[in-house]
Amino acid sequence: VNIELINTGAELLLGRTLNSHQQWLCRQLADRGHLVSRQVCVDDSSASIQRAVRDALEHADLIITTGGLGPTADDRTRDLVAGILSRKLVEDPTIVRQLEDFFARRGLPITSRVRRQALVPEGAIVLPNPNGTAPGLAIEVAINPFHLEGRPAWLIMLPGPPREMRPMFTASVLPLLAQKFPPPQPFVCRTVKSIGIGESMVEEMIHAPLRHLIDAGLELAYCARTGEVEVRVSALGEQAAALVSEAETVIRALLGKNVFGADDEELESAVIGLLTERQQTLSLAESCTGGLIAHTLTNVPGASAVFVAGFVTYSNEAKQRLLGVDEETLRQHGAVSEPVAREMAEGARGANGTDFALAVTGIAGPDGGTNDKPVGTVFIALAGPEETLVLKKLNPYDRETFKLVTTRQALDMLRRKLAG
Ligand code: ATP
Ligand code: MG
Repeated sequence: VNIELINTGAELLLGRTLNSHQQWLCRQLADRGHLVSRQVCVDDSSASIQRAVRDALEHADLIITTGGLGPTADDRTRDLVAGILSRKLVEDPTIVRQLEDFFARRGLPITSRVRRQALVPEGAIVLPNPNGTAPGLAIEVAINPFHLEGRPAWLIMLPGPPREMRPMFTASVLPLLAQKFPPPQPFVCRTVKSIGIGESMVEEMIHAPLRHLIDAGLELAYCARTGEVEVRVSALGEQAAALVSEAETVIRALLGKNVFGADDEELESAVIGLLTERQQTLSLAESCTGGLIAHTLTNVPGASAVFVAGFVTYSNEAKQRLLGVDEETLRQHGAVSEPVAREMAEGARGANGTDFALAVTGIAGPDGGTNDKPVGTVFIALAGPEETLVLKKLNPYDRETFKLVTTRQALDMLRRKLAG
């Protein structure tokens, strides 16, 4: 299947919005064995969109557009595509009713602009949008006058807002693809995620032991992220499931506790999952991460069952007042020190009556480093029922990366403890 992706929106080309659809859609498709062969990003002007769609129709079997389905004047995708394919736009009564409902529930009047979203090119399949007003559209271009070899195509239009586009893709587009473009042979893909070891080390640990599977057709790829390494294994054909599953077993066995999950599983959801399983609670005392650990954990649905409270104690005074850190400890060792991290964690644990408490204190930079404690130095403490552990790390990055990496290290410290 030749797949082309068209992302529309001036904001993408002005660098004001990151084109996350490109990455997200390509990944979703690739994980199901569909490789996107071309992706273009264009502004919202009629000429740009028309040209992009016509160009794509020349080669592609499947074209996915994003953006420009809304009610405003710069939302032109629907009209332009209908024009290119010489289809009449007809009002879809179901969509009209949904729009009326949507606006009635919010006590808002429905305008003619809004009603435009109920217009559907003749013959199009409507993809429901439970998270917004503009539905997606899928059109079978059975007779494609643009294709160089006269092949038919499917053209799918998705809305711009990620929180509308992603669920729609999952709920409506994937089933449609499975039906219209069934893979010629089985494709299986799995991403195993690890933390705490570098990419080259991961490769060294697993590459040779996977050799026989690679020779049998397994594809192996590494992707390094901030503090994490993803290993993607995939295979095609009758043996695909067996190859991928054996590869996962080998990788998990060799990387051991460094593996925290697979596919869409995140480190924070692994931590929340382990705490929930063990019915244990957590509190936080954050200095240099400024609340990022609490933010990360609270992104996980169900975090409230195990996460009790987080302090952001940036000043020494707050560390004393809220966590009971000893003034003498601060004077003797400085705020960025092992004893202070320990007292912070124990203070948070005591104040909240939780099973565990994590604390971080460090020097984010760019100033404030010394020979002894260079910029990037951080102490991470984990207070638990039996003992308090403290790790010293060096994360000499820009402030944002420093916070991100420190957050992952702290969560990982707890994960390893919980995993036993
Ligand atoms: P709306 O009904 O909100 O107008 P729409 O389908 O017309 O939806 P756009 O107007 O193109 O979509 O985009 C709406 C918003 O969605 C943009 O402001 C932007 O924040 C986000 N968005 C659009 N395209 C992308 C993209 N490729 N990557 C990330 N975000 C995007
Ligand atoms: Mg719009």
